[in-house]
Amino acid sequence: MKIGVLALQGAVAEHIRMLELAGASEARTVKKVDDLHDLDGLVIPGGESTTISKLMHKYGFMEEIRKFGLEQRPIFGTCAGAILLAKRINGQDDAHLQLMDIKVERNAYGRQKDSFEIKLPIAGVASDFPAVFIRAPYIMEISDRGQVLAKHEEKIVAAREGHYLAAAFHPELTEDYRFHKYFLEMVKEYRS
Ligand code: GLN
Repeated sequence: MKIGVLALQGAVAEHIRMLELAGASEARTVKKVDDLHDLDGLVIPGGESTTISKLMHKYGFMEEIRKFGLEQRPIFGTCAGAILLAKRINGQDDAHLQLMDIKVERNAYGRQKDSFEIKLPIAGVASDFPAVFIRAPYIMEISDRGQVLAKHEEKIVAAREGHYLAAAFHPELTEDYRFHKYFLEMVKEYRS
């Protein structure tokens, strides 16, 4: 199983480490569009979604990652990565990749809670997952095809829709690789 991590900005090395711990046979950085062609799955890390989006346009990733998703190859977006996957962003006319049928609200948590960690139950993953939120978004709307995996204070913070997986928090910033393992199971499912 070959998994790539989009390496334009954000916690790239941390995702690679977690994918390796979770059992990926190969996890590597994706710095140019050619790096996508033999991958079974892709992780889009957190960072700042408008910055990542600009870099994606600049290096030709927008169309290529869209194709990647439309070919049913799994994509896991964390924090800014989830915003990039979304079809709709609250208060913005245009979204980015527009692959996953969710609407997100950016920077959804108040100032005193800009950054925090909390244990959350995540369906199919863990009953006590350490979720690190950093200026995190949340998912306001999800389609009938989507599945809510986790909520925090009534807000959806993790979801899956077929081969798309989105988390509002940063699963790569802890020692817990169970969420990455869940993604690898998804990749396996779509590869066969
Ligand atoms: N606030 C960022 C954005 O809107 C996301 C934060 C993150 O990825 N930690 O892009």
